[in-house]
Amino acid sequence: MTATHDAAKALFRSLTGQEPAGVWSAPGRVNLIGEHTDYNDGFVLPFAIPHRTVAAVGARDDGRIRVASTFADDAVEVSIDELSTLFPTLRQAQGPSDETQPAVPEWAAYPLGVAWALSLAAPGLDATGVDIAIASDVPVGAGLSSSAAIEGATASALNDLWSAGLDRTALARVGRRAENEAVGAPTGIMDQMASMLGEADAAIFLDCRSLEAQLVRLGVAEAGLEILVMDTRVKHAHSSGGYGERRAACERGAAIMGVPSLRDVSVADLVRAEDLMDDVTFRRVRHVVTENQRVLDTVRTVREQGARAIGDLLVASHASMRDDFEISVPELDTAVDTALAAGALGARMTGGGFGGAAIALIEADAVQAVSDAVTAAFAASGFDAPHLFTVTPAAGAGRDA
Ligand code: ADP
Ligand code: MG
Repeated sequence: MTATHDAAKALFRSLTGQEPAGVWSAPGRVNLIGEHTDYNDGFVLPFAIPHRTVAAVGARDDGRIRVASTFADDAVEVSIDELSTLFPTLRQAQGPSDETQPAVPEWAAYPLGVAWALSLAAPGLDATGVDIAIASDVPVGAGLSSSAAIEGATASALNDLWSAGLDRTALARVGRRAENEAVGAPTGIMDQMASMLGEADAAIFLDCRSLEAQLVRLGVAEAGLEILVMDTRVKHAHSSGGYGERRAACERGAAIMGVPSLRDVSVADLVRAEDLMDDVTFRRVRHVVTENQRVLDTVRTVREQGARAIGDLLVASHASMRDDFEISVPELDTAVDTALAAGALGARMTGGGFGGAAIALIEADAVQAVSDAVTAAFAASGFDAPHLFTVTPAAGAGRDA
């Protein structure tokens, strides 16, 4: 039990005056490599981090769901029967409506969206009312997937309390559906799968088409290395703007190539692709196609030579996101360039981009030197101070008490 568990339980008590029936948690994640490949049916290699979102949950007998978070001022309470009417994206899908205001605050659409998606994924469920109190030490909006963590903690809790019997992959799909359809963020399945399937010292090599997942032992500590997270504190928001535009460009590129998704385009096909499409679409396509190949190369390299050998692949991935996919920002580039100049073996931005965090693979005894260099570079550029910390691959979602 951590301070986050204590905070979730304390919030539950203040909400209900009772003890929770149980406590569940799910981690955030770092993506080692494979960015914007998940919704292109491609490959990713994320790992779960020690930072977790905790849900303290208890049943109630009036068919209502109440969610509270230490990050939000007020609890939100709705009836289970009205869940499908709450979310703007779903309301639009149901036909024209003059309601423009969301019926619940955005943060509450994550746990309430999970309750909605779970009840659809397990038909015939006897969904009782619940109180859900949430606390987290996953940095929010930092590209470390606090969204998958809140979804995973809620989904694990409701799966048990409602005896829904869904496996981890099905729970990941529930989380993604909540994020896509209740929140309205068009994200892929990577974050939820990483949060569900994480294990100590392992990354998850995921084929996002088949959802087949293999654990890849990283051996980072064994090799005398650390993974440093450099959170730029530039907030991103996936439910608006650039993320959806990048998705659309990928769909356009696949349509021009005459394939179901960019997964079906190989590096050798890029010569032909360049003649068929405009420059921007081509560069979006080239990022995804080469990034898929870099994930495969990273998995092979880790297995054959160990984590020490993947630095150049991380660097190439960052360059592709910066120049071809254009999802980096000056703070992320500064973090990556400074870490490399200070001796990192490799570095790249991680997560959806437009802000958030970068990672660096560094010698364990260089953590302080690299951190100092990045902090100094941010100050010199007039950026807000970054939040720097090391992470080790950690366990996935589950019941803790
Ligand atoms: P990321 O997943 O990179 O942290 P997202 O934009 O995908 O960023 O998700 C962040 C959003 O998820 C927050 O703005 C908030 O709405 C919701 N969220 C995440 N964690 C919590 C939490 N502990 N309590 C309330 N809402 C949360
Ligand atoms: Mg997210």
